[in-house]
Amino acid sequence: MDMNSVVDDVLENIEKSDNPNRPSRKEAEAAVRTLISWAGDDPAREGLIETPKRVVKAYEEFFAGYEEDPDLVLGKTFEEVEGYDDMVMLRDIDLESHCEHHMVAILGKAHIAYVPTSKVVGISKLARVIEIYAKRLQTQETMTAQVADSINRVLAPKGVAILIEAKHQCMTTRGIKKPDVATITTQFTGVFKEDPNMERRFLSMIRGY
Ligand SMILES: [Zn+2]
Repeated sequence: MDMNSVVDDVLENIEKSDNPNRPSRKEAEAAVRTLISWAGDDPAREGLIETPKRVVKAYEEFFAGYEEDPDLVLGKTFEEVEGYDDMVMLRDIDLESHCEHHMVAILGKAHIAYVPTSKVVGISKLARVIEIYAKRLQTQETMTAQVADSINRVLAPKGVAILIEAKHQCMTTRGIKKPDVATITTQFTGVFKEDPNMERRFLSMIRGY
């Protein structure tokens, strides 16, 4: 047994103790070999030998969001607002996710705003919340609602606005093959829902005004 496989076995046991129902890394790699054969290639071919290992590692990155709790990330708030009572907005947050129907990439941008009450959060935390939900198997609609819900639940702001614009590779590279179609989803709560002027300001700020 070489050093790498000893390390693999130790990591395996740690993962197992976290979630006994989770398939082992070796089982996950075997599943990738099955898919390579299904695609029509030979998993034993030299260029493909290490591929199952790499794919499983890539999956760890793509789906890292299952390991994290967005509410905990947002829970670290700074209470002092110092008289600030307008929206806080993050524009053009890069979004990388995977659709739950085809496990193919969804790539786009997210824009989020909220109007704080007493609780203000570090701005990078909002981007982290998007990332945590994005690094799971998703639909764009569900992800949009989950981000708004999480911010509402933890920060209890006067309102939340979120707009996600993304291209789904399951639509651009297969199926109906419409490479330019962007899917846009929005969720508005509180003041953004009640006051059309707030909604308008949010939308025009996305365009840079
Ligand atoms: Zn899809």
